[in-house]
Amino acid sequence: MQSTLLPQQICKEIDKINRNFFWGDTEACKKIHLKNWSTVTSPKFIGGLGIKRAYAKNLALLANRAWALRNNLTDIWDKTLTFKYPPNHSASKNVSTTWADILKADHICTLGTGWRLGNGSSANFWVDNWSGRGPLRSMIHGLLNRNEELLKVCELWDHSGNWCLDRISFHLPTIIKDIICATPKPHTHLHDDSTDWFPSPNGEFSTKSAYHLACDLTSEAPNSKWKWIWKTPTLLRISTFIWLFCHNSLPTKSLLHNRKIFMDSSCPLCHTTPETPLHILLDCTVTTPIWSKIIPHPPPLPPFF
Ligand SMILES: [Zn+2]
Repeated sequence: MQSTLLPQQICKEIDKINRNFFWGDTEACKKIHLKNWSTVTSPKFIGGLGIKRAYAKNLALLANRAWALRNNLTDIWDKTLTFKYPPNHSASKNVSTTWADILKADHICTLGTGWRLGNGSSANFWVDNWSGRGPLRSMIHGLLNRNEELLKVCELWDHSGNWCLDRISFHLPTIIKDIICATPKPHTHLHDDSTDWFPSPNGEFSTKSAYHLACDLTSEAPNSKWKWIWKTPTLLRISTFIWLFCHNSLPTKSLLHNRKIFMDSSCPLCHTTPETPLHILLDCTVTTPIWSKIIPHPPPLPPFF
């Protein structure tokens, strides 16, 4: 996976094997998949289990090599490939499949490349990601005239270092103006602009952040609603139970009824209401006394409003 881009069909098969193993499927017996695979393979900080999607993982590993080639890192085989295929070499039929496959992950490097501004004379105002929010060109539609297309960042600074957006011939949306103005001219204006890996705070490439880019997850903000589950000092199977509960995906009769597996959804203990996760754990008249024994004097619940 680190040197070859697997066919998508093989990646789907790998995902299928992972999925069947996770839910306990066998050839003879299919189990209920309580949550969709897209959620299961999301990172834990947004409510998934962090199981990797094969194709995206494959791309992230190849992007690792592509990043090394872009930045002339020192591994011997990176040097060999760079020597054999210099940056202006075109991808034709008679090239190494390893090199060709690495190039297929190069767009991940483009997505993750951020510009650290110096004198602003190298970073392209529209195409390069110097704001940390992606290329501005991807936020506007329509054609740019030739002169504007080639604008460097420094050409939009005035002598005082303030943004001078009057040089752009059309009206910029307020949201883009805000993004631009949030990036002031740096004090290190004597240095050239340089590139680094912007998803990592230290600017160094990481396969983990490349994987998030490959899955298009970089806009997802961590949610503390999910973090606490995995920080709770308990057995993994209890954490997984809580995770299913929070997704309202415990295999209760109510869920099985919705999936047309059971006809009857009523609670088997009190027979009064449907058996939902909240009912079976909290509201059921049979389970309430158990809670009372465990916590004889519960603290008052805060009001909802
Ligand atoms: Zn009940």
